[in-house]
Amino acid sequence: MQLRYATNLAVDQYIDSKAWKDAKLAHCPLHPKGGCKFAKHGTYPRKYPDGVKIARWYCPDGCATFSMLPDCLSSRLPGTLVEVEDVINQMESSPSQEAAAENIRLDIGLPGALRWMRRRLFLIRITLMLLIDLVTSLGDCQPTVSSFRSVLGTEFVLPQLRMFVSPYLDILPPPLGFGPRPEVKKLKKNHFQHQTGTDPP
Ligand SMILES: [Zn+2]
Repeated sequence: MQLRYATNLAVDQYIDSKAWKDAKLAHCPLHPKGGCKFAKHGTYPRKYPDGVKIARWYCPDGCATFSMLPDCLSSRLPGTLVEVEDVINQMESSPSQEAAAENIRLDIGLPGALRWMRRRLFLIRITLMLLIDLVTSLGDCQPTVSSFRSVLGTEFVLPQLRMFVSPYLDILPPPLGFGPRPEVKKLKKNHFQHQTGTDPP
């Protein structure tokens, strides 16, 4: 289970200061009254960025591990929230997704780059749409990074939102939230494809 490690450190500061050592989890999230063998369970490294570690706890009674993800990092995607936001921002401000891909991913071919970008765009759009419904003060936003930037008056909205909407993180999809990934195929089928069968009269 991923939990929020509330810290305003940028990822470089998090690595340099080994801030995972300062992460604290006072009690077992499954057994808040205690009585279980909940204990610190070391750290685990992330492949990217190099040097990042995440503090971890374990409850043997609940057979569950708990990791404290700092506010700068994406959940279930490599890298930081700022990096994800950069991608979405470039997609929003480019004349086409293909044009954005030429600036964002030079290391892979266009189809792979588009898949990589669209996966991020899909997750962030769903997240922003959910937040517009859930949070009254965001009700006038459009589901774009640029709209959220202007309403929140901040340079990078995703790290701000990790703090600002923390009560909803369990139901929001990654990379902002800690909830499940929305199912792309099901959504596409429901919303973008005609149903099979005979035409209606
Ligand atoms: Zn426990």
